[in-house]
Amino acid sequence: MEKREQLYAGKAKSVFLCDQPDRLVMEFRDDTSAFDGEKKEKLARKGLVNNYFNAFIMEHLAAAGVATHFVERVSATASLVKRLDMYPVECVVRNVTAGSICRRLGVAEGQDLDPPTFEFFLKNDALHDPMVNEYHIRAFGWAPEAAVARMKEQTFLVNGILKALFRSAGLLLVDYKLEFGAFDGEVLLGDEFSPDGCRLWDLETRQKMDKDRFRQGLGGVVEAYEEVAGRLGIPLP
Ligand code: ADP
Ligand code: UDP
Repeated sequence: MEKREQLYAGKAKSVFLCDQPDRLVMEFRDDTSAFDGEKKEKLARKGLVNNYFNAFIMEHLAAAGVATHFVERVSATASLVKRLDMYPVECVVRNVTAGSICRRLGVAEGQDLDPPTFEFFLKNDALHDPMVNEYHIRAFGWAPEAAVARMKEQTFLVNGILKALFRSAGLLLVDYKLEFGAFDGEVLLGDEFSPDGCRLWDLETRQKMDKDRFRQGLGGVVEAYEEVAGRLGIPLP
């Protein structure tokens, strides 16, 4: 595999073309951002940790029957993925209240949600990623009806798989964000799964082990990600 020119650079990852037209190289950078890019910092080793973390989770999900874009990790900070036509929406499932649901609905953090909730957000930093529903997605043509149903179904399937995985590592999966795209008429899980895009609390102490450490200025951000990786048995260089 030969890496070629950069296709685009997001807030935390850069995406490159390669010698295979239906594949991309996703480079995980140390850049960390929050509040739609308003707060930014470089955190040493974050790119490497998230690349290893994501590879482990994507392989775990694939083994459990989730169709993903992940092909293989190709370096310390980069992975080869299938090139998707991304749907411009984020799929969020919540098991416990935290973050924007608390601000929006005025509810306290840390309440169990039964059933877990599902939300779509439009990927648009300028509009601060507004919440949208299935009608908006279909009416504006962001994704076809079948893809909407598939994204929802797969996001809930991921919940069962990852809640159990994190629980076995003494962690509570509070919430997470997934992105999907189309590949050869199929809907595949794309982007990444790492502590940058989910909330993980220690089961006993409820200590935050995810990007909220960065958002809330708690410090020890990458240290917490490495602790989670260690508990999952992910060997990091
Ligand atoms: P952001 O877009 O939020 O700044 P990133 O820095 O993570 O996020 O950038 C990665 C970009 O790559 C995102 O826009 C994401 O939708 C896109 N992407 C992720 N996986 C794929 C894929 N398999 N094919 C094409 N684009 C992808
Ligand atoms: N999330 C994300 N990218 C976004 C928005 C949210 O990865 O652009 C993740 C976030 O890390 C959390 C979940 O989605 O795990 C729910 O986020 P929420 O809606 O609570 O927004 P926040 O409080 O993070 O702004």
